[in-house]
Amino acid sequence: MPWQVLIGNVAAVSLVISVWMHLHYKLYRLTEVQAQLGFGLMMGLGAVLSMLLSVEVGSGYYLDLRSTLLAVSAVYGGPLAVLVTGALTAAQRISMGGAGVEPALISIMLVSALGLAVRIRFGRGTADAKKAVACAVTVAAVTLTMSILHRTGNPPVTALSLAIIAGKFAATLAAASVITYFRAFTLERDILKAALTQAPDFHYVKDRNSRFVVTNLNVARDHDRTRSSEMVGLTDFDLYPSEMAQTFFDREQEIMSSGEPLVDFEEPLVEENGRERWFVTSKIPLRNRHGDLIGLSGVTRDITEKKRLIQEAVDSKNVLSQAMTEMSDGLAMFNPEGRLVFCNDQYRAAFPGSADARQPGAHIADILQAAMRSGERIDVSPDAGEDWIETSAAQLFLTHDSEIPMFDGRWLRQRTRLAADGSALVVVSDITAMKHSEERLTQLALKMKGLADTDALTGIANRRVFDEAIAEEFARARRVDSALSLLLIDVDHFKAYNDSYGHLEGDNCLRVIGEVLGSVTKRPSDLAARFGGEEFAILLPGTDRDGALRLARMLLSALHRRAIPHRESSKGMVTVSIGVATMSERFSTPAELIEAADQALYAAKKNGRDRVEVAATQARAA
Ligand code: GH3
Ligand code: MG
Ligand code: MG
Repeated sequence: MPWQVLIGNVAAVSLVISVWMHLHYKLYRLTEVQAQLGFGLMMGLGAVLSMLLSVEVGSGYYLDLRSTLLAVSAVYGGPLAVLVTGALTAAQRISMGGAGVEPALISIMLVSALGLAVRIRFGRGTADAKKAVACAVTVAAVTLTMSILHRTGNPPVTALSLAIIAGKFAATLAAASVITYFRAFTLERDILKAALTQAPDFHYVKDRNSRFVVTNLNVARDHDRTRSSEMVGLTDFDLYPSEMAQTFFDREQEIMSSGEPLVDFEEPLVEENGRERWFVTSKIPLRNRHGDLIGLSGVTRDITEKKRLIQEAVDSKNVLSQAMTEMSDGLAMFNPEGRLVFCNDQYRAAFPGSADARQPGAHIADILQAAMRSGERIDVSPDAGEDWIETSAAQLFLTHDSEIPMFDGRWLRQRTRLAADGSALVVVSDITAMKHSEERLTQLALKMKGLADTDALTGIANRRVFDEAIAEEFARARRVDSALSLLLIDVDHFKAYNDSYGHLEGDNCLRVIGEVLGSVTKRPSDLAARFGGEEFAILLPGTDRDGALRLARMLLSALHRRAIPHRESSKGMVTVSIGVATMSERFSTPAELIEAADQALYAAKKNGRDRVEVAATQARAA
């Protein structure tokens, strides 16, 4: 009789455990609390079922496998689970009544507590043989203890009760072992599943006809599906244009018929929107245990971004080297030790004399030596010597620009720049054309300046230059107390000359007078200028009154010697009148000096022309 009951109970236990395994498989997303409550409920229902199938041994005492399910609930479910199982078990037991209710409740609490202790002792996450044995021992120990303690009315510790204990032990051990095995299996499956689902790649298994059997979520998502199960049964023909699908299909069939795996196969795939993506794929043929090919397992990775980066690197490298080859400038890079790391052909061509020495690996000192010996630089003598090499080599590591005149008339500009890592970058440009136009510009500028300073008719200094000069010389004379004299010259009867000979001839006459003025002013500091109209001025720095008078007389006689005919003049030739003023304390501005010379000139005119008058040294009383 008890054996039949025990077998019925074992069936009940197996039933709940297998039902739980199936449910658990479906509901693996449950939270920890939900899982504990569910497990506890399942084990509780099992215990109730087991108690319904129990047999009464002695009055009020029932034999069943409730303690097995309680222990399993405590050890593998946890405190919440065993709370639910315990509550259901206790309620059922109370409803069944009888003398054994009290010890049965104590037994329920004992098994629950010991089961939790086993759970804590062996670690709550583990599921191994030791834990399973401990679980079974818990049940056996409690049953034995209860048998001993409640001898009265309880089945005595007899061969039968020992056999029952052994039976309970075996049933618990079996149940715990099934759970242990199942745990290990689900753990492995969970890890695999997590690995596949979370992997950034596309994982899939296909059957012999290239139909998807399993895929990870990435594959489904890439084909606009939310669940991987939606991929099962599809082929590439459902996903890609037929031509492309055929290529994939043929390739897979080839792998499966030859048994040769495809490893790291890279290929581009143009999407419908025209976007190109690159993939790397490995496909391995799968065999069953008999060795027959049954399908393939594939991993595909999107390497579009990687490809793009590689392409970008290649492109920029190409652009850079093309730029360096095609640039008109010479380019060279020296490492911090002064060795040439790189240079383009233009750099070598810029220095024909030392081109052979300018090779990668060459030291700057050797390059300079070759440049010096060759005499390719006009500014460096072939025997300039070690000093020049040393100084120039040191300059390689100074950011600077230099201009180099070459033996063949070219001019080079060499720009040296230091990089952050201490290497030097040298850019050499041909600036010959620039130099030439620079030269032309300089000449032009000089010429322009000359024009701006010269009186166009006579070729001597103009009024602007005179004004500047007298202001400067006046200030200097006052400052250092040096002499300064001024001659104002006016042509006599020039209006009549013009009237008689014509204006053009008058211009010619002025030109000749300008020449004569230039010829008498010998010192570099003397300045002969056209003052305006037919009036001239001569500024004589460092010349006193006597010196100025002497020069004025020389001018009169020089003009006499030129003897420019003037039929309207009583002298028969062109003459001038000259007023002389010499710097003294009475003059506080250049204008006063000019005014004094002008008054002297007026006097010369009044006193008969063709003569010199000197301004009074002291101011005349008004
Ligand atoms: P004086 O002896 O008193 O100086 O008599 P003048 O005829 O020279 O008298 P004035 O100084 O008044 O006359 C100057 C003349 O010089 C008037 C003007 O026609 C002429 N003249 C001034 N500048 C030029 C010039 O650039 N070219 C020519 N051909 N004649 C000029
Ligand atoms: Mg005049
Ligand atoms: Mg005049």
